[in-house]
Amino acid sequence: MSRTADALVIGGGVIGSAVFYYLSKEGVRAALVERGDICSGTSGACDGNILSIDKEPGYDSQLALLSQRLLRELVAELDCDVDYTQRGSVLVVEPDARQEAMARDWMRRQKEAGLPMRYIEGREVFESEPLLARDVIGLVECASDSSLSPLALTFGLVEAAKRLGGAVYPRTEIRELLRDRAGSIRGARSSTEEFAAPRVILAAGVWTPHLAGTVGLDVPIQPRKGHILVGERTPDLGRRKLQEFGYLMAKFGQKGVRGVEPAMEESGVAMVYEPTGHGNFLIGSSRQFVGFDTQCDLEVLRLLAKRALRFFPSLRNMKVIHSYAGLRPWTPDHYPIVSAVASIPGLYIAAGHEGDGIGLAPITGRLLSEMITGRMTAMSVDPLRLERFDDGAEKSASH
Ligand SMILES: Cc1cc2nc3c(=O)[nH]c(=O)nc-3n(C[C@H](O)[C@H](O)[C@H](O)COP(=O)(O)OP(=O)(O)OC[C@H]3O[C@@H](n4cnc5c(N)ncnc54)[C@H](O)[C@@H]3O)c2cc1C
Repeated sequence: MSRTADALVIGGGVIGSAVFYYLSKEGVRAALVERGDICSGTSGACDGNILSIDKEPGYDSQLALLSQRLLRELVAELDCDVDYTQRGSVLVVEPDARQEAMARDWMRRQKEAGLPMRYIEGREVFESEPLLARDVIGLVECASDSSLSPLALTFGLVEAAKRLGGAVYPRTEIRELLRDRAGSIRGARSSTEEFAAPRVILAAGVWTPHLAGTVGLDVPIQPRKGHILVGERTPDLGRRKLQEFGYLMAKFGQKGVRGVEPAMEESGVAMVYEPTGHGNFLIGSSRQFVGFDTQCDLEVLRLLAKRALRFFPSLRNMKVIHSYAGLRPWTPDHYPIVSAVASIPGLYIAAGHEGDGIGLAPITGRLLSEMITGRMTAMSVDPLRLERFDDGAEKSASH
């Protein structure tokens, strides 16, 4: 049996769903295939922070800032509750002169790049976050940061695309991509049916390299595992999203700078705290290259709790009610791949968003739909090309 579409999106995570929505909005006859249920991959095992604060000042933070603006439009457009709150976020600075200097420099560079940032110090630190450890010396604040439910956003995008005429095929695993004699893409095949489409968008997160391999393409994405602890409902432990400043070092794979115990350094543990709209809280984060296993590692969970206690001593009296782990789609230079594939006309990649895919979903969907409909893109997509890795972008796992 064969089904047809003008554009076939493979992968029903937040990225594929955003591409599916923006294409449908442009009037493209789009189909979405997902091997499990919608949001059954990384987008269903993560936090929901929409951040600019932790992006490299420059192109990276501009991309995030534009995505935040698009998200505010989306929240109104989607006609569903995605648990969106814009409380801003902060990086917590420890009593360490070197860290303080780095934090002030980070704030200055982000501000110059147009982000709404400021440095908070003295009494205002505890007026703003009363339950933080008393030795914290400063907070770097970004007012545009927000959070939402990744599940609600992903389902909201899919339902909105369906209302615009898009077709969805859950529990349909694509086995291979198909090319015509000239080498252009012509669709994809599952074990039971063929999908004919002149444009195929690979949005399969950490599984993208497997599918790309069926047409001989090398896509350098690796799974970088992260754990989360979910806490019971508590009023105002922290008022907004908080991360230790050292999170930036863990994210960018800089070892030996943070002064944490070796086991924390090894598993990339850095404190991340997120209050949810329902009054629970999420505690992260860890970063490990340990393959595709999503089982929780008790030792890593223990380290997450220990690191969180260093910043929130009152957590000692609160209960953890759940834990889970997901796989961030990591690329060697930390930028996602949002790209046409030069060697295979009609094939596009939208994957590799590592720890930023929820926040970058709107801009990814928008850029991909602009590329496919031949319009000028909202930002240059040159830094996001797949071929940058052939040009010599760094290719080794640093953590
Ligand atoms: C612990 C943790 C915390 C995070 N916190 C944040 C955060 O606060 N903010 C943020 O912006 N990002 C965060 N992220 C990152 C974010 O979750 C990811 O970047 C994002 O979910 C990736 O989305 P995706 O659609 O590319 O991948 P996925 O959600 O994994 O979607 C890919 C889909 O493709 C499907 N698929 C795979 N192979 C096939 C096939 N052969 N046929 C059909 N379908 C297939 C899969 O089943 C899957 O559903 C976090 C990640 C983790 C692990």
